[in-house]
Amino acid sequence: MTDPQTQMQFLFALRSKGVTNERVLTAMERIDRSRFVNKGLFAERAYEDMPLPIACGQTISQPSVVGIMTQALDVQPRHKVLEVGTGSGYQAAILSQLARRVYTVDRFRRLVTEAQTIFDALDLHNITALVGDGSHGLPEQAPFDRILLTAAAEDPPGPLLAQLREGGIMVLPVGQSDTVQTLIRVTRTPQGLDYAELRDVRFVPLIEGLGED
Ligand code: SAH
Repeated sequence: MTDPQTQMQFLFALRSKGVTNERVLTAMERIDRSRFVNKGLFAERAYEDMPLPIACGQTISQPSVVGIMTQALDVQPRHKVLEVGTGSGYQAAILSQLARRVYTVDRFRRLVTEAQTIFDALDLHNITALVGDGSHGLPEQAPFDRILLTAAAEDPPGPLLAQLREGGIMVLPVGQSDTVQTLIRVTRTPQGLDYAELRDVRFVPLIEGLGED
């Protein structure tokens, strides 16, 4: 990653914001966030706990929010995970350290191509990055053990709930895009779906259809 002092501060900030799971912290220690931010503009801010702008008018999430969401997803080594909203690819790279296979989908081709280049450079070969409207999920790869949305939907999309394996967990922000949203965790139990509210968050909206870039 970076120099040991910056790295220690990065991990300390994560812990102080509630990211305590050791597997998640180790994954976040291994994946260098500076690879996923715009080097010219933001290289020196990559280890600060703040979201940053990326291409196509999107954002790379705040590290502590990535940590909290990853922790809530409870990813295990044999899991097949779907992420909707590749963005910079940072969250998918973290998931790749914890799961057997990660599928990540974005509606912007440019973001998927740029993320794929970084995955290749970092030898992250268990990630499949695809262009598509993630609100339909990825029926050909379903069911998934875990599903993570990194864009806010007004309600959990039905196709995604349908692609969650029994015992599976989905974590997503829900709410209107211009207000504070709620991060929720949905668990598919044999009796049906269990919902838990985790905390307030702010994400870009989940938008139907493909992007132009
Ligand atoms: N996880 C990202 C941050 C995502 S920002 C990271 O680690 O950097 C949210 C992303 O969701 C944006 O890139 C946006 O293009 C994407 N998105 C929004 N609606 C979508 C949809 N219907 N299908 C796929 N991706 C979508």
